[in-house]
Amino acid sequence: MRILIVEDDRLLGEGILAGLKQTGFQADWVRDGVAGLAALQSEPFSAAILDLGLPRMSGLEVLRALRATHNAVPVLILTARDTSQDVIAGLDAGGDDYMVKPFDLGELAARLRALIRRAAGGAAPLLERGELTLDPAARTVRWQGQAVELGQREFTLLHELLLNSGRVLTRGQLEAKLYPWGEEVESNALEVHIHHLRKKLAADLIRTVRGVGYMVPGE
Ligand code: CA
Repeated sequence: MRILIVEDDRLLGEGILAGLKQTGFQADWVRDGVAGLAALQSEPFSAAILDLGLPRMSGLEVLRALRATHNAVPVLILTARDTSQDVIAGLDAGGDDYMVKPFDLGELAARLRALIRRAAGGAAPLLERGELTLDPAARTVRWQGQAVELGQREFTLLHELLLNSGRVLTRGQLEAKLYPWGEEVESNALEVHIHHLRKKLAADLIRTVRGVGYMVPGE
């Protein structure tokens, strides 16, 4: 799950970035509205955290521009503006959720998980598929009743495939979710992670769609 943070306050941006990474999200951070809009229009983020008071382009302008181009990325507005009029304007401009600073990082992470599962068409907090259960909040995986240890990228990859079960995800889409800016993508890393997941779970859980990508078949 890869999150874009659009926040001009350096301390706050650094804090959210570090906090999200600790919670198991991949995250990138930009410091003005123009950079935020460009990033959201060029890469498949799972969700965005958007400040309203931003240099170059306000948060509301970013939202309106995004939605005008039918970009449906879930957006959580995170701002110091706390009046009902501000909340109404933010949600009516295309925001999906609204939090007022100061905020609790655990609550922010839980709201992001809720937005992401809704955007994928789900409501249940646990992702289940046959004898496999993935808990995005606890970051645990069980297979046939047993806990299975997964590396961070293996977990993210499995989470992404389960959220989109029944749909083929391309290499590029999967790599974009696994690697924030500045992290080198090794050329066969994706295949290695898929191989490990098949070994730790079941050989037939993840299907290779030749020349396209990977999928967990729908039930
Ligand atoms: Ca600001």
